[in-house]
Amino acid sequence: MERVYNFSAGPSAINEDVLKKAQEEMLCYGDSGMSVMEMSHRSAVYDSIIKDAEKLLREILSIPDDYAVLFLQGGAWSQFAMVPMNLATKSGKIDLVVTGNWAKKAGEEASKYCKVNIVASSEDKNFNYIPTLDKTKFDKEADYFYICDNNTIYGTKYPEYPETGNVPLVADMSSCICSQEVDVSKFGLIFAGAQKNLGPAGLTIVIVRRDLIGHQMDITPTMFTYAVHEKHNSLFNTPPTYSIYICKLVLEWIKGLGGLKEMEKINKAKAKLLYSAIDESKMFKADVQGSSRSIMNVTFRTGDADLDAAFIKGATSRGLVNIKGYRTIGGMRASIYNAMPMEGVEKLVSYMKQFEVENK
Ligand SMILES: *Cc1c(COP(=O)(O)O)cnc(C)c1O
Repeated sequence: MERVYNFSAGPSAINEDVLKKAQEEMLCYGDSGMSVMEMSHRSAVYDSIIKDAEKLLREILSIPDDYAVLFLQGGAWSQFAMVPMNLATKSGKIDLVVTGNWAKKAGEEASKYCKVNIVASSEDKNFNYIPTLDKTKFDKEADYFYICDNNTIYGTKYPEYPETGNVPLVADMSSCICSQEVDVSKFGLIFAGAQKNLGPAGLTIVIVRRDLIGHQMDITPTMFTYAVHEKHNSLFNTPPTYSIYICKLVLEWIKGLGGLKEMEKINKAKAKLLYSAIDESKMFKADVQGSSRSIMNVTFRTGDADLDAAFIKGATSRGLVNIKGYRTIGGMRASIYNAMPMEGVEKLVSYMKQFEVENK
């Protein structure tokens, strides 16, 4: 069977050259005589893989030296608890903006460990925009200010980040990491599950300013302690070795393209093509308008659930798969992460045009 264009929100498409390289090296990595999956995480050969992955991520995101890069497990969901357990330990209060399910869940989880002040929410319009923030609602004593940068389910993204002064900004970048240039120094902590833009599930990346490490609550489990992972260079216990290796290949691919500057250009061109097709159409309407639009997850609908279902069915039969919207909001969602080639978006757009003509 031929490979499809996979618009899945996560786990998601991985660049084909990356997969081919992994295939080539599957049975025998370099002159190790074994697969990366079979290697000890304490071996010299594996050490060079994890070190290269970190080096590449630092290079691609221009991560300053006073930030630690941690390769962890447990997904974004673990970070919903790990962040407050490690960072919410001075005033025990945090600020948080609710821009969707993931921010809400992060807030609920954090409230087990600290006091959560909701600065703003866009729930009134089913999270179809990023709210403007009223600075008078920011708590100057907050241990951190939490945002979900790209809202995977609704298709929104912060056009600019809140100015939080001395309060560290913490961002869930699971669905936008390495999709465009970002100034890491604006953040206290960034985390991301790898399964959307950086490789397979099982790996969670945390980029954290070193001075924020080491102040964890006494109850914090060893595995949830940033200081432990920093001290052991992400090799405290067995890390997700194969996922880190694929992440390294993905980062090599991004670097080869010309880094985030180039990646951003390509991603913006793909998003522009798709949003323009939706905006020009009389049948399809985008869920999100203006500057809140995500360039990773594009949500749209016809306004008629049966027509949406017919569109999705037709798309699937053409090898354009997983464009069904999130179960609670319906419609369509095309996730066009880094690994979605321009041709995939072009094929989707040309199918949309054909569908509109045929279903007038
Ligand atoms: C996918 C996703 C999550 C959930 O990630 P898990 O790794 O399954 O815990 C959280 N936040 C965002 C923004 C996501 O896209």
